[in-house]
Amino acid sequence: MEKDISVLGATGSIGRQTLDVARSLRLCVRALTGNRNVDLMERLAREFSPELVAMAGEDAAKELRERLFGTGIRVETGEQGLLAAARLDAATVVSAIVGAAGIRPTVEAIRRGCRVALANKEVLVAAGSVVMPLAKQCGAEILPVDSEHSAIFQCLLSRGGSAVSRILLTCSGGPFFGKTRTELAHVTRQQALAHPSWSMGPKITIDSATLMNKGLECIEAAWLFDLPINKIEVLIHRQSIVHSMVEFEDHAVIAQLGTPDMRIPIQFALTYPQRLPMQAPALDFSSGMALTFTKPDTEAFGCLALCARAFEMGGTAPAALSAAGEVAVYAFLEQRISFLEIEGLCARLLDVHENRENPTLEQILQADAQARVWATQAVELAAHGAQEREGHREKQGGGK
Ligand code: NAD
Ligand code: MG
Repeated sequence: MEKDISVLGATGSIGRQTLDVARSLRLCVRALTGNRNVDLMERLAREFSPELVAMAGEDAAKELRERLFGTGIRVETGEQGLLAAARLDAATVVSAIVGAAGIRPTVEAIRRGCRVALANKEVLVAAGSVVMPLAKQCGAEILPVDSEHSAIFQCLLSRGGSAVSRILLTCSGGPFFGKTRTELAHVTRQQALAHPSWSMGPKITIDSATLMNKGLECIEAAWLFDLPINKIEVLIHRQSIVHSMVEFEDHAVIAQLGTPDMRIPIQFALTYPQRLPMQAPALDFSSGMALTFTKPDTEAFGCLALCARAFEMGGTAPAALSAAGEVAVYAFLEQRISFLEIEGLCARLLDVHENRENPTLEQILQADAQARVWATQAVELAAHGAQEREGHREKQGGGK
């Protein structure tokens, strides 16, 4: 294929799978970005010989620059480096940085009016109100990489002019499907990281366990497909075979099915409107496959409703929620707060958030930064409270 791509977040789960696809399609890779993983980036740079490599971490960039000395590959650092990578005139930019760090580089690519293969859902969650009109204005084509959104996009290709009555967004249910609120209070980091069907980066894996990921995906779908959030219905589908469905006004439902392999939606975002062969196992329908669908347990998993609430609030609320959610997830991964405290912290954030309507990108990023400060303090308080309770229990236990 005669196509060139730049991969933002090349060292991550989506980034590496994108490079698998690039390898098999023999795509020209123009720029790669990472954060701190120098060994992997050095290997990728030597294999793909991009013009530019950017590492967000300063020390990592310095070390990489020394290692790549003499190769002719430019090594840049920090946010300026990420922006430079997005600015190179590749036909497609793959946006696969995790979290809000991906917002500015993605916006920079959109401004060029190129194709953006979008994996980073936080970009649309936080800044959909700015990003979608900007893409239209600049003639940028945003193609979803997230498997559910790729599925919806594919289902909508058969739309003609028909109106959509519902989107049925499927959800594996994560590792804690079926657990009660009381049981969720005691789950561990290791249990939360053991996703039943997908192998992904740590942030989205924890978001999949709380169902925050599905809530963020509802917002992502509302922006991508220009639909009110109440037309997007989440369905638990444990097998992760039906990646999502679209119901039209005549109640005909179109679904997209496939093995749970992210290279399929990634490749489609790169090659659309073409479909090219994929070196991955095909679905085997003759093996007694059963497909089941149920409603999510919204009482046990409150993050779904929090996302809908933030989207209805509009303005800077989704950006603040997404930023606080990031802080909470990393605090849980560091075992500083409990699993349910991720949701608790996000709920309190929405209670105190001073919403700003019709925000600019700068105001959105400001709301993100403020929510991070608030959430970091909330983590300190929660961690301190937990320590005190632990100390109290030990004292009581010692007295018996
Ligand atoms: P990951 O943690 O595996 O990779 C993240 C990438 O971002 C890495 O290259 C890392 O170096 C880079 N990065 C992290 N922090 C950075 C920073 N501060 N500045 C610059 N770069 C930074 O994550 P992932 O699972 O590949 O997910 C990437 C995005 O794609 C997320 O937004 C996620 O929600 C979305 N997504 C992932 C999957 C999946 O299967 N992994 C599926 C759907 C959507
Ligand atoms: Mg998804």
